Amino acid sequence: MLSERMKNLDPYKPGEQPNDREYIKLNANENPYPPSPKAAQAVSAFVKDKPQKLGLYPDPDSNELKAALAELLNKTGGVLSKNQAFEGGFKVTPDMIYMGNGSDEVLSFVFYAFFDSDKKLVRPEYSYSFYPVYCGFYGIPSDTVPLKGDWSVDIDEMIFRANKNHSSTIIANPNAPTSLGLSRDQIRAWMRRAPRDRVFVVDEAYVDFGGETVLPLLAEFKNLVVVRTFSKSLCGAGLRCGYIVANPELAQAVTTVKNSLNHFPLDAFTQKFALETCRDGDYYVQCAQKVVAERDSFIEFLRERSWNVLQSQTNFVFCKKNGVDGRSCYESLKKEGILVRRFDTKGIEQYLRITIGNAEQMNALKEAMKNF
Ligand SMILES: *Cc1c(COP(=O)(O)O)cnc(C)c1O
Repeated sequence: MLSERMKNLDPYKPGEQPNDREYIKLNANENPYPPSPKAAQAVSAFVKDKPQKLGLYPDPDSNELKAALAELLNKTGGVLSKNQAFEGGFKVTPDMIYMGNGSDEVLSFVFYAFFDSDKKLVRPEYSYSFYPVYCGFYGIPSDTVPLKGDWSVDIDEMIFRANKNHSSTIIANPNAPTSLGLSRDQIRAWMRRAPRDRVFVVDEAYVDFGGETVLPLLAEFKNLVVVRTFSKSLCGAGLRCGYIVANPELAQAVTTVKNSLNHFPLDAFTQKFALETCRDGDYYVQCAQKVVAERDSFIEFLRERSWNVLQSQTNFVFCKKNGVDGRSCYESLKKEGILVRRFDTKGIEQYLRITIGNAEQMNALKEAMKNF
């Protein structure tokens, strides 16, 4: 009874969300801090004072939200933890933004709009595991390029393959699960050598924790699509809100995909919450800075105990210790009530991906890890 295309589906496996007990949840890169109290209050007031709004269709294009988001990006320079306006007069305008129901949905529309089934999409091995899932969903072949020995992206090889296939490229920067970031200059030099008439996607889910954003490169490259989310640095994984920033023609193409599938991806409630989130940027700047401080102290803790930890620019660390088995490490933490992420994927079985929590959670984690 199943369609032919079902054969190509290999669904994403998220970090576990068990409810058998209260775990310290450090396995899904969620933000340990709640959303801004001002945003929460504004949403309660919205539901209380204007319940009739929930009976009406929301703005299909989230226009008020896009304007507030452009303002937040311009004020913070696209990196909350650094919080400095863009250099050189670059500005994001609302017509460069497409907003959707979580960046996973946005990514799926990006795949639909820009990647063809007769051109191999170039992507690095060990990156966000939703990319191959969408390749299966839309029948897009990929050309997967191994990372180098130090876990860095093999830029020369990726450029070579994109030119050979005359195809698009997708990367996460900073990357998950490795936590490593490339500089804006590195990506500028990369894009100058890659096909200019194929879309180049940079997924910046983690950039607010100290990476370098490529947003200013939109002034130079008409083929750049930057994907971002409210789920990590904007404490909003439960909101389901993600977006792209790109030249207006590409943002319009993704809007066309949306209007051919689900006209109203963001409900009225989420639009309100996200709007107030953007208006209270200072709160999220502080949250991002706290996460960065906890992360750097945790990296130091691990290195003092001879763990091998990559230099994270994200809200998680990717680590292992020689002689310590990844799975048993994961299991003993779980017994202690702490969930972290590990992978059965060949080559990274011994690594743990640990989300940075708040001070209390990190103290509990450090206590539990002293035994390893
Ligand atoms: C978490 C994550 C996303 C998805 O975020 P949602 O907006 O919650 O769908 C996208 N890309 C990467 C690399 C992520 O880690």
